[in-house]
This record gives sequence, C-alpha cells and structure tokens, in this order.
Amino acid sequence: MARTVPTPAQPKGPGQVTVADIQEYTDYYTDFRNPGREAARESFCPHGYRLTDSCPNCPSC
Ligand SMILES: [Zn+2]
Repeated sequence: MARTVPTPAQPKGPGQVTVADIQEYTDYYTDFRNPGREAARESFCPHGYRLTDSCPNCPSC
C-alpha cells in the first residue's frame, strides 16, 4: 500500500512555494515522487537557496 501524502488543496506552482509551505507539506514538496518537488525546486527561500536544497538559515528547507 502506498502511503498517503498530505496534499495542499491548491498546490503552489514553480517559483510560488514558500518555506511555510515546505513546513506544512514537507512530504508533498520534497518527495521526488510528487509534482510538488518540481515546484519547490524552482522556488527559493529568502536566502536565495532552492527549497529542495539545504539552507543553513531555514529550519526545514
Ligand atoms: Zn533559507
């Protein structure tokens, strides 16, 4: 059985994902099996890091 990943009601597109989105829907936006990861990869935190990369200044991105 595939595990159910909480999915945002209105998933953000590329460049629209925020750190708060990552924190609320971590699996959806970081798991490569989900379309959300592609959106997160094209989005940046306030420090200029891709949200799929590790940022030393953000707790979970
Ligand atoms: Zn950051």
